[in-house]
Amino acid sequence: MAEFALPVERLRDDPERFEYEIPAAHWLARVEASDLDREEAPAPLRVELEARRVGTDLLLEGTLTGEVGLECSRCARRYAHALREPFRLVLEPVEGAGSVEALDEPEGRRGLRENGLCLGEDLEAGWFRGPVIRLGEFFGELIALAMPIQPLCREDCPGICPHCGADRAEERCACEDEKVESPFAVLRRLKESKP
Ligand SMILES: [Zn+2]
Ligand SMILES: [Zn+2]
Repeated sequence: MAEFALPVERLRDDPERFEYEIPAAHWLARVEASDLDREEAPAPLRVELEARRVGTDLLLEGTLTGEVGLECSRCARRYAHALREPFRLVLEPVEGAGSVEALDEPEGRRGLRENGLCLGEDLEAGWFRGPVIRLGEFFGELIALAMPIQPLCREDCPGICPHCGADRAEERCACEDEKVESPFAVLRRLKESKP
């Protein structure tokens, strides 16, 4: 698939800008986020990057941005989560077929064959080969990385009352009143209730 191609052959020392739009169809199936809202098709995500040559290496610096529908881990409400994942990827050239085979991972050899790109473990380094590399797999990994581990509809979401199940963003439940009531208030009520 000729998706998200980066023509590395023409890169020079001066950075060149590239923009990509990643449709949901490309990444939705690759991301294993249980909180992800898969019913409503999300708008495409965007990657803007600058690529340049550093010696024989390539340096790709950019940011993934966009919005996905997630389910809040505290109140279970669906909300639009803004994604923003900066990245910096250094790619070393793989010289000749011999060193391609020398890359231990079958996965890495496949990546080089199909995409001209083999990613390291940390998504910060890798190898490239050929005049054009395809960034589809890298973008998929980047999106997975950008997904929050504990999605929150807002930083201070009060969540659901563990006692009565009330949505505490909407209503104050009695359980909460009991918890915050001061001992003085309890004493006062005892006094007042005396005949
Ligand atoms: Zn919430
Ligand atoms: Zn409650």
